[in-house]
Parts: sequence; C-alpha cells; structure tokens
Amino acid sequence: MYIHYPWCRALCPYCDFPVLVARGEPPHRAYLDAVLGELHERAAEVDGRTLRSIYLGGGTPSLWEPACIAELVAAVARRWQAAVATLEITVEANPADCTPERMAAWRAGGVGRLSIGVQSWEAADLAALGRDHAMGDGPTAIARARAAGFDVVSADLILGAPGVARDACVAPPSVAAAVASGVEHLSVYELTIEPATAFGKRARAGSLQVLPEDDLARLYEVTHHALVAAGYEHYEVSSYARPGRQAVHNSLYWQGAEYLGLGLGAASFVRDPDAAGGAVRRVNTRKLAAYLAGGPHRVGEETHLTAHEVGTDQLWLAMRTSAGAPSVDLGEVGVWLLAGGLGEVRGDRICPTLRGFLFADQIASRVVSMRTGPR
Ligand code: SF4
Repeated sequence: MYIHYPWCRALCPYCDFPVLVARGEPPHRAYLDAVLGELHERAAEVDGRTLRSIYLGGGTPSLWEPACIAELVAAVARRWQAAVATLEITVEANPADCTPERMAAWRAGGVGRLSIGVQSWEAADLAALGRDHAMGDGPTAIARARAAGFDVVSADLILGAPGVARDACVAPPSVAAAVASGVEHLSVYELTIEPATAFGKRARAGSLQVLPEDDLARLYEVTHHALVAAGYEHYEVSSYARPGRQAVHNSLYWQGAEYLGLGLGAASFVRDPDAAGGAVRRVNTRKLAAYLAGGPHRVGEETHLTAHEVGTDQLWLAMRTSAGAPSVDLGEVGVWLLAGGLGEVRGDRICPTLRGFLFADQIASRVVSMRTGPR
C-alpha cells in the first residue's frame, strides 16, 4: 500500500514530484477523509491479497498530523485483517519535523521505519539544493529516531549539489558521516536536472553550475566503494542497506508485486483478472479539488498492460536490482550487457555490475526496445 501526502513547506528547486506548497496548515482531516474514502471504494481491487507494507511518501508526510497517520494505518491494517506489528510501515520525514513528540506518536501508530530526507551533512550542499532544513537538523533527526526505537532508520543522500566544488575521486564527507550516524539504510541519488523545475530553468539559462556527468559518475562509484567497505549492501541502483535491512516495500515493487496507491497523484499496479498475465496501471489525478471530490474524479489515467508489457517492465526493473534477471529472459540484451561490462553471470541470472547500475536507464531502454522491436 502506497499513500501519497502531497504537501511540502516549500518547493525544492530540483523537485519533479506531485507536490503542493502548504500555505498555512494543510487540510489534515479533509485529506484523511478523502484517502479513507478512496480506501473503502478501491480495497476490493486487491481483495484476497496479503498486505505486507504501508509506505507514506510525498510530498512531506511528516507534516501530516500524526493522529491522521495512525488512523489511516489502523484502517488499512483492519481492512486486510493484518496485525500492524507484522507490517513494514514507513514514513518519509523532513528532518525539521522530527521532534521527539512526533516520533513517539509515529511509533505509537505502528510506524517502524523512518526515511529521513537528510540529503547532505554539509551546509554548502543544503544551501545549494535549496533545502528548508539546516545543517544539524538531519543528524539530530537520526539521533532522535534511534532514541525513539525505530526498527530501521534510512537517510536520503544527494550527490552533485550544483556549484559546490568537489574532488570527484573522493567520497563526499557526507558518506562517512552517514555511516557514523548508524543508519541501517541509505538512498543515494545523483542530482538530476528535470526540465520543469527551477533548476531546469536555471540550467537552460546557463546560470546553474552542474557537476560534469563524468564527475557525477565517479562520485557515485567512490560512494559505492565507501559504503560497501563500511558493510552496506548495494541492492538497488540507489539503495544500500545493512544485511537484512533492505526495504520490503520497495523490494516488492521491484519484484513486480501488486500495489494499491492512495492519495493525490498516487500510482497503483493491479493484476487484471480479465487479461491472463496482464495488469492495470492507474495514476490518480494531480488536481486537489478533483481528488477531494472523490469517485471517478480521482482517476487521472488508467493503462491496461498486456502480459508481454508487464514482463518487459519486470525485466528492466529487475535489472535495477543486484539480483538481476534470468539470462533466458534477457536474451540478446544479456549478450550486450556482458560484452559491455554492464552485467555479470551469477548462476542462471545476469546481474548488473557497478557500471551496469550507472547505466540503468540505458539498460531499461535497451530491454524495452528489444521486446517491442524497432519503432
Ligand atoms: S521536500 Fe521532497 S517532495 Fe517536497 S519539494 Fe522538496 S524534494 Fe519535493
């Protein structure tokens, strides 16, 4: 189960997510009622399935009243007759929201995994990224999360803040600081400049000093080596975890599991009982008024996928993970991966090398074009 909470205090200049900027207090209760309404209307789509995880993403779900989160978690667990303690329940949190009171309320509501948007342990990076939290908020949030007894604390880290001078052959100081903080999980992203963002605009105007692509790739590599040396497993393009602490929710997604997405702009993936092996991908509207109105107004886009299309998506998703994909399914792409040093054989699978992780998007395009033929 994915639940989207769309509000943020401010729009980060690199953000391309479905986000609303909170002017004053967001409508906590009204939004909860709308999400509960969607839950009751749509739960039957995934009746009979086992609920494994609930992920509250955003936006900034840590802005939501913790009582609303607790009520929603309880309603979802009840609907699938699951004991809250058996589920992986994650909340994405802005460091600035991580007060001891909120943490205690999240824990009491069943949240066991906190994903904190630290982004960097360096003030210059945070300023360059236009983040609304200050240096010190991230480490404080992690320390408080430890004290509050979360099962897993994860931190996000962004590589390549614009305009910050960096020796690309050395892991940024944030990497050692993240390891020292004791987080069980790290999500490491290379900064990408999306066209429809403030950074995109500045890049087009030539006023954004972005790190050259080769330097960014080198930073990714040295970060990988530092984290692996510190005992983290690199299990997906952007994801590192202490052994046994991989994210259940995200791993299910990469393995092609079904998920119901509730909330503004949320995406769902549900097997279609009418199409052998096919599925329906649905994305909710990004318009708040339409979402709050409920019913058919909530649907933004619905795509019916054939079994072949589902198989294609599963293949490229699998190649974003360290487990890779069966050689037999990859066919000629497997040959291309091995020849280019992008993949290596492990048993009957081909798994991405570090270079393969760096070229994950190109691998995905190759998988898609191999399975759909020349256009
Ligand atoms: S906090 Fe996250 S979701 Fe919100 S604007 Fe910034 S990057 Fe986007």
